[in-house]
Formats: sequence, C-alpha cells, structure tokens
Amino acid sequence: MSSTDNTQPAPLMIVGEVASSGLARGPAMLCDCARTQTAVPLRQVSAAEVQAEVERFDAAVLAAEGKLREVQESVRRTLGKDEAEIFEAQVLLLRDVQLRDAVRALCLEKRMNVEAAVEEAIKQLMDLFGRLEDPYFRERATDLYDVGRRLLDHLAESGLPDVPVVHEGCVIITSEILASVVARLEGQGVRGLIVEKGGLTAHATILARSLGIPTLVQVPEATAKIRAGDLVIVDALAGRAFINPQADILRKYDQVDANLKAHQGVLKGLIGLPTVTHDGVEIKLCANIGQTADALAAANVKADGVGLYRTEFVFLVQDHFPSEDEQYQFYRATAEHLQPAETVIRVLDVGSDKPLSYFPLPREANPAMGFRGIRLLLAHPTLLHTQLRAILRLSASHPVAILLPMIDGIDELRAAKAAIEHAKEELAAAGQSFDPLIPVGAMIETPSAAILIEHLADEVDFFSVGSNDLVQFLLAADRIRGEMKSTYDPLHPAVIQVLAKLATVARRKGTPISLCGEIASDPTYTNLLIGLGFRSFSVSPGRLLDIKHAIRSTDLQQAEKLAEQVLSVHSTRDIRAQVQDDWNRRRPVASPEFNGPTGPVGTSLAVRHNVARQRFEAQAGESAPAFLSYRAEGERVILKHTFVPDALRGQGIAADLVRVALEEARQRHWKIVPHCSYVAGFIERHPEFCDLVDRQEGNLD
Ligand code: PEP
Ligand code: MG
Repeated sequence: MSSTDNTQPAPLMIVGEVASSGLARGPAMLCDCARTQTAVPLRQVSAAEVQAEVERFDAAVLAAEGKLREVQESVRRTLGKDEAEIFEAQVLLLRDVQLRDAVRALCLEKRMNVEAAVEEAIKQLMDLFGRLEDPYFRERATDLYDVGRRLLDHLAESGLPDVPVVHEGCVIITSEILASVVARLEGQGVRGLIVEKGGLTAHATILARSLGIPTLVQVPEATAKIRAGDLVIVDALAGRAFINPQADILRKYDQVDANLKAHQGVLKGLIGLPTVTHDGVEIKLCANIGQTADALAAANVKADGVGLYRTEFVFLVQDHFPSEDEQYQFYRATAEHLQPAETVIRVLDVGSDKPLSYFPLPREANPAMGFRGIRLLLAHPTLLHTQLRAILRLSASHPVAILLPMIDGIDELRAAKAAIEHAKEELAAAGQSFDPLIPVGAMIETPSAAILIEHLADEVDFFSVGSNDLVQFLLAADRIRGEMKSTYDPLHPAVIQVLAKLATVARRKGTPISLCGEIASDPTYTNLLIGLGFRSFSVSPGRLLDIKHAIRSTDLQQAEKLAEQVLSVHSTRDIRAQVQDDWNRRRPVASPEFNGPTGPVGTSLAVRHNVARQRFEAQAGESAPAFLSYRAEGERVILKHTFVPDALRGQGIAADLVRVALEEARQRHWKIVPHCSYVAGFIERHPEFCDLVDRQEGNLD
C-alpha cells in the first residue's frame, strides 16, 4: 500500500465558475469584449495600401458623424435638448485633426491597417487627456473612447470580407464582457466563452445563458494562459477548461458529450408534461426573456408564460431609442409567441451594468445603487411614457402585465402607477384601446421593498422577486465580480430568511409572487425554494426543462424539511453544504456525469464523494476503494490521507482523487489544510489550486 501514485503529466487545465452550463470545444479567439464589440483585426499593410486605409478612415468619420447626428436627434426627442448637446463634443472629436494625423502616421509609419491604427491613436489620446489636470479634458477621455468605438463599428461594416468578425465555431477568451457584446453574439456560431472576471448574475452572463453559450467566469489569467488558435474544451459543467488537451481527455469529453445529449433527450420528453412535484403540488414555470428569439425558445419548451421580459435588451441592440411603434412591434412579436399565456413586460431597467450607448448618464461611483430602473424612468418621463403607451396598446389584444423594476417603496410605486394612469388617460382620449385592468406588479429587489412587502401588497397585483439585485443589496456585495473574491452568495442565511418572509407574507396577503432571479434557473436551489414557499418561478428558457426535471423529482415534504433545516443554521458554509448534498442526491440519475466528468485525467474510474465517511473514493468493481480522507474542523477541511490499493496503482487515481476533492473544495468554499504530503505536492505542481490552502497553516509557503 502506498499514499502516493504515479501520475502522468497533466495537460493545462484552468478552473472557473460555471456561468452558463454546457460543454464546448473549439479554437480560442482572444477578444477584448469589454471595450469593443469585436476584436480589432491587426494587419500589416503595404505602402501601396496606405492611402486606401486613410480614405477608409475619412469615410468612417463621415458615416460616424451622420449616425451621431441621428442619435443626437433621437436623444433630443426622448430626453431633451441638454442631453442631446453631449453629442456635440463627440462630433468635434471625430473631426479632430490630431486624431486624423495620429491615424495617418500609424498607417504610414507602422504600416498598420486602419482599424488597428484607430484603436492605437484613440488609446494614445485617451492617455494624454487622462493625464491632463483640467477635469474638462479628463471627461473628454470617455467621449474619445466612444468616438473610437463608433469609428471601429463603421470600419467593421466596410472591412475586408476576409477579416471575420468572430470566427465561426470559436471559443472567445476575454478579460471582461459587456451585455451589449453578448447580445450581438447571437447567430455568430460562438461555441463557448471564458471570462477572467464577470459574475454569475451579471447581465452579460444572463444573456450568455439565454443564448445557450457554455460560459465560465472568474477564470484568472485566461487571456495570458490561452493563445489564439489553441484548442479549448470548455467544461461548463464542472467549471474548468482544458487547453490543447491530450487524446485521452478528448475521448473522455466525447463520452460526456454523449451523456449530455442523452440527458437532453430525457429533458425534451418533459415538454408538455405538467410542472408538478412528485406529490402533485403545482408550480408555475415561466420564462425570462430578453430578445424575441428567447420568446421562441420559451414557446418551444411550453413555458407557462413570460414572467420577466427584460425590455432593456430591445434597447441594447439598437443604436437609438426605439419609437413607440417600434417598441409596440417588438413586444407584440414576443407576446405572439406565448399566446394565450401572459407576458410580463418589465419597463426599462438600464443603467448600472446595462448602459445604452445613446443614453448619456451621469458618471457615478456606485452605478448599481444610482441612476437606474424606475428612478431613472421617473426622471425621464417621456421615455417611460412612450414605453407605457406601447405596452398598453398591446394589452388591447394580448394578455400582458407591467412590471416595475427597482421599486424602493410606496412613493416610487405610486409615482409609477400615476404615470401608467396618465398614459391610459391619453390613450382613452385619443380613442385607442387598451386593457383598463392591465395587471401591475413590483419587483422586490431592494431590501427596502422586501421590508415593506406587506404594504406594497396593497398597491400591486403581483410581485416578482429579483434575487440577483436583492442579494447584492442585502449583502453589500457586487453581483458583477471584479478581481476580489466576492462575498455575494444567495445562500447567505440573511437571504434565506428574507426569501422565506417574502413567500409567507405574499401568500398571507393573497398577492401572487414569483421568483425570477438567477437562483430560480439553477436546479441546485429548486428544492429549497419550493420548501421556502415559492410556487412560481421565471427562469432562463434554456434551463426551463432542467428546472422542470428538478421540480418533478422532488416532493413537498422533502422540500419543506430541507428549508426547515436550512433556516435553522446560520452559517453560509453549512447551508451550502446542506443544499449541495441535497442536490448531489437528486442529480439526474439517467446521466450521472451530467454535472461533469469526475476523473478527467489518467483514469476511467469515477470519483465519488462519500459525505458520511468524509472521503473521496474511486473503486473498480468489488476491489478495495482508493480514497482521500478528510476531516472538517470548523472553517477548515483537513485533507488527511491518500490511499491507493495495489490493484489500482499506476493509473493516476491518486491525482484524480485530489483533483476532484480540490474542485469540490472550491465549489463549497472550503479552506483546506493539506496534511497529506501527496496532496501538498500535487498542489505545488498545480498552482491553480493554491488559493484554496489555508495560509495560516503555512503548509505551502
Ligand atoms: C434581479 O435583479 O434578480 C432581476 C431579475 O433583475 P435583473 O437581473 O435584470 O437586474
Ligand atoms: Mg434586478
């Protein structure tokens, strides 16, 4: 017997958090998706081509100016003269001789293509402006960035046809990604996304999920570790990616892919079946949608309706404020798909991580807590009025409801309702028809609204719980994660208690309540949420059948027991362990590897977490199991001993046990202490796990 094992050299593997589950494989394409819509192609041009490149620049300036004037006009109509004035500065920057000279020089002297030259020249000028004392010029740096983006957009349109914007079938590797960029990825054949930063409830992530693009976020240094063209497997089941994997890994993923497809077959069989728990409790299961394509996806899986239509995505993919008629057409096309079921249309919730390029907003230190949602709409009544008119007109022929985002209390709610009444009066006076009893609901996504739910219930027809924001504000933890390890956790006991209260009070008041935040789209939480009292969810269309599967495989008694247990503990870590164990027990049996292959390197044996015995085990037939034992000690988990019986040695099983244990440690937020020397050596060879080690122990220092 030995506590060590021979291991093959591991292929490069990096880990991250699953933001949109699935499996993808393809060549890497490195992009800067937080700054530009697509990668800026860099190309060496010949002396003969320089003049043509400069001419393309001049043409792009003209086109960009024309577009800016249109945007300016739409802003003037919707927001007013002062806001439209902001675009004047951008027009001046577009025509700036310094910019033209810099671009020309880069094309001529460095033989850069015009796209790369524009990007470089804008960068240089932004640096220059940013260093100036005068705040006016520092402000102009942002305008310059915008001007650069506009120019690049026009150049992309006039670009050479052999410079693809996004390579079909690629995996995009980026440091950050904006929602507006993901919105444009639809239909471009992107197979996967790996993002260094990002968060599970960021809007970019929500969109990636709705487009069904397997996505990992929080993958440190992905852009440094992965090179353009590398073959990448995105395992957005287990939360890892393999770079240039060896043949045996590729083969294993072929198997996982087959398992996944088999499970998807099982899920398809659920379409049209009732959404009830095993013991017959009916659950309403609607879809969250952004674009019309989502509505089609929702209809295809027979959603019970649309519980949340994020209309901001209609605005995000435009380059101007959509008019009342344009909005009416968009909303109508969506509602058509779901007829006769209801479509809950949320009025515009822009600001924070959903900026509109044509909507100049004041710069704020904390935009998530600033000018967004209903506050922004109440400050721009024309914008709200136009949207309300479009929705009301649709209510004449389709079952729709109005949902108000970011409500913080009674006054805001009443102001928004007054705006609805005003729009109704105007339509009535003009003889246009609408549903006078159109239901009006409030999002519960601020702590103040949660505290006041009892009183808000007297003013609305329904509630929708936006747990994405609610968690962020309850815990003072950003839903979009930057460098820092976030404390954002929906399983924080404070969140659980608030959710329980919301479900209880709404039921007592007889006000329908649905949960539409991202936790509703994750089957890990389904049992708990039912146990806490929720009977209605609105989820990403791509996850609807997974949730239905989870609902149909639980029963109310079990769910309530889990909720009771969870409500009685006060540590996030303990709650997570309970919820995870519950989910591990009920993961779809038909495809046991659905949540990821557990032994991807070197062995074909699956690794199992034996919670009762506190060990990770791998076993071949009836032989003695290999295991890695541990002991939980308060906040820490001591990894004690790795054991591989003689019959199983030489297959890399010890490495598999440790890898699986460390990945689970990451998921469960364990701090580990590697008492076993094999584990300590493994971590030294795999520095991506170093952050899990409890540094106070000094084991690896
Ligand atoms: C939420 O906050 O949970 C929510 C559904 O709204 P959004 O994610 O669009 O902010
Ligand atoms: Mg929200």
